[in-house]
Amino acid sequence: LITARNIYKEFTLGEVKVKALNDVSFDVYEGELIVILGPSGSGKSTLLNILGGIETVSSGYITYMDIDISSMNEKELTDFRRSNIGFIFQFYNLMPNLTALENVELAAEMSPDPLDPDELLKQVDLWERREHYPGKMSGGQQQRVAIARAICKNPDLLLCDEPTGALDIATGVQILKLLVDFNKKYNKTIMIITHNENVAKIADRVFYIKDGMIRKIVENENPADPDEVVW
Ligand code: ATP
Ligand code: MG
Repeated sequence: LITARNIYKEFTLGEVKVKALNDVSFDVYEGELIVILGPSGSGKSTLLNILGGIETVSSGYITYMDIDISSMNEKELTDFRRSNIGFIFQFYNLMPNLTALENVELAAEMSPDPLDPDELLKQVDLWERREHYPGKMSGGQQQRVAIARAICKNPDLLLCDEPTGALDIATGVQILKLLVDFNKKYNKTIMIITHNENVAKIADRVFYIKDGMIRKIVENENPADPDEVVW
């Protein structure tokens, strides 16, 4: 699904240059559940944002379904992101002035091939809360709305930046289950960033990243169920 070769990303802050990614290469296959693990500042979010078309590379190339996304301009990247990628963030990023259902519907409208927003809100068990605004919902509920919103676009790739980072353990397990479900049921590719080594047990493969480099990639023969993960 994805081929990334010799990715470098440098940020310039005034006089200071920060090397966020330093010669990163990898492949991702269709239907995989990948976990990206690494310390703070190691380049995890930068990597995911590049894959999702939020950031551009300094050098190197990335293809998604054989389409070169590393040479796209901003408009092309935005179109690419809207039609192919589902994003889930640590702090949900819902539209505060839209209800739960309207948040999901808005995403569906952007997609060429959306799933049914009503059905998805039911799947994340929030049908009763559909008319509620994000500000009136708990963190776990908001994250479930965010998942419904990301999945209803029916993306081939779901990118999750610390989706359980702000949640308690039980709620985190519930969120991981929804993600694993989507991965299994629809054979969708998912990449999840986490600080938590236990979360890595649910992955097919784990990318260990440090100082902007992938230090090792470990394959899991028997990925754990989110329920089995000891926190
Ligand atoms: P965390 O676990 O804390 O979220 P991370 O692994 O996601 O960390 P990144 O956010 O990818 O790390 O950051 C990698 C490096 O790039 C850091 O040194 C960071 O300060 C720098 N960086 C990231 N985004 C920017 C930006 N927009 N402008 C300047 N520097 C940035
Ligand atoms: Mg990050």
